Amino acid sequence: MAELKLSETRDLTRIERIGAHSHIRGLGLDSSLEPRLVSEGMVGQKTARKAAGVILQMIKQGKIAGRAILLAGQPGTGKTAIAMGMAKSLGLETPFAMMAGSELFSLEMSKTEALKQAFRKAIGVRIKEETEIIEGEVVEVQIDRPASNGSVSKTGKLTLKSTDMETVYDLGSKMIEALGKQKIQSGDVIAIDKASGKISKLGRSFARSRDYDAMGPHTKFVQCPEGELQKRKEVVHCVTLHEIDVINSRTQGFLALFTGDTGEIRAEVREQIDTKVAEWREEGKAEIVPGVLFIDEVHMLDIECFSFLNRALENEMSPILIVATNRGITTIRGTNYKSPHGIPIDLLDRLLIITTQPYTEEEIRKILDIRSQEEDVEMNEEAKLLLTKIGVGTSLRYAIHLITAAALACQKRKGKVVELDDVKRVYALFQDVKRSTEYLMEYQSEYMF
Ligand code: ATP
Repeated sequence: MAELKLSETRDLTRIERIGAHSHIRGLGLDSSLEPRLVSEGMVGQKTARKAAGVILQMIKQGKIAGRAILLAGQPGTGKTAIAMGMAKSLGLETPFAMMAGSELFSLEMSKTEALKQAFRKAIGVRIKEETEIIEGEVVEVQIDRPASNGSVSKTGKLTLKSTDMETVYDLGSKMIEALGKQKIQSGDVIAIDKASGKISKLGRSFARSRDYDAMGPHTKFVQCPEGELQKRKEVVHCVTLHEIDVINSRTQGFLALFTGDTGEIRAEVREQIDTKVAEWREEGKAEIVPGVLFIDEVHMLDIECFSFLNRALENEMSPILIVATNRGITTIRGTNYKSPHGIPIDLLDRLLIITTQPYTEEEIRKILDIRSQEEDVEMNEEAKLLLTKIGVGTSLRYAIHLITAAALACQKRKGKVVELDDVKRVYALFQDVKRSTEYLMEYQSEYMF
C-alpha cells in the first residue's frame, strides 16, 4: 500500500508540472527562426527562444549527437517552458520525458536505474508492420424489402450506388477493427448499423441469408468489390524503449505503465530488447526516434549521476538531453568541489548553454493573461493589474498560482469575474516565499530546531 501511494504521489507531481505549461504549444518562432513577441503561448525570452530554435534545427539535421543543452536562469524564468516548447516543436511522435533531479533519490530504485528508465522513456521506436487491409471499391448495396410484410425476399436485388474511394478506405479500416480476425473477402456483404456503428459480416451468400431480416431500417449494406481486394499496407506504431522494457519485464505487463510502479528492470531484459530492436532496424522494420529528456534541478544530481550522463551521451541511441538549473557556482554533490551550476567541468564542456532572463512587468502581465485564458478564468482589469504587481514583487509562479486561488474565491461568492478583492483575499491567505521568510525570521525562536 505504501508503495502504491509513493508512485501515486510521483505521478501527481508530474501532472502538476505538465499542467503548469499546458499553454505552451511551441517556441513561437517564425519561418526564419525569429521569435514572435507572443506566439504559441510563449512570451518574451527572445534570445533563449531563438537559441532553442537553432538547436531544434541542429536536432532535425542530426547534428547534436553527444551534446546536451543547459538552460540556466533564475527560478520562474521559463526554463521548463522552453524545454516543453522545444519538445512540442519536434512533433507529436517525438517522445518527451521530464524529471526533476531530486526525483532520483528514491527508495524504490537506484539512481542509475531511474536515469536509465528516464533515458529509455525519451527514445522512441517507430515499428512498421504489414497488415492486410481491404482496399478497392466498396459499393453500397440497396436491398429491396417487400413492403408488405417487411421481410426480405430471398432474391434481394442489388443496386450498386457508391464507388467513392474515400468511403472505401474508411470502411476498410472500420471493418478490420470491428470484425477483428474475420477475413473479409471480395464480394462479401457487410452491414453497418448507422445508429450504433456496429458492423457485421454477412458473407457472400447474403442474398440467401436471413441475417439482414433482423437488422433495423438504418442499416447500410455495402459489398466489397470483386477483384483484387486484399492488399498489404504498412501500419506504423510508435512506442518508447521504456514501454517495451516494461511490457517484457513483468507478468502484469503494460498495466505497470499506468501505475508508474515499474520497479527495477533487469539488465538481461534490456539487452534482449536492444538486440531485438537492432534486428528490426537491420530488417528495415523499425527506426529509432530520439526524443527529448529534460532534467530539471540538475544541480541535485551527484557525481555518480553525472558520470552516467557523460557515458549515456556517447551512446548512438541517446535522446537529446536538456538540463536546467537556477543555481550559480555551487558544490558538485558527492564531492568537495565547487563548479558553475554544480555541474562537473567535463560535462559542462559538452553543454550548449542557454540563459534565461528575468521578465519585464509587461511580459509578466502577458503570461498571466495567457494563463488566465488557459484556466478559463475571467478577470477584470483592476485584478489583473494587482496580480501583475504581485508577480513583479514576488515571483511569476506565485502570481500564476493565485489565478486558480482567486478564481475559487470568486466562485465562492458566486461571482463570474475575478475582482480586485478576490486577488487581495488570496494574497493575504497564501504567503509568498519572501513574506514567509520574513515571518520565520521574526518568529524563529518559536520553531523547533
Ligand atoms: P525553476 O527554476 O523554478 O524550475 P523555470 O525557469 O523552469 O523555474 P517555468 O516553470 O518554466 O520556470 O515558469 C514558471 C511558469 O511560467 C510556468 O507556468 C511557465 O509555463 C510560465 N512561463 C515561463 N516563461 C514563460 C514564457 N516565456 N511564456 C509563457 N509562459 C511562461
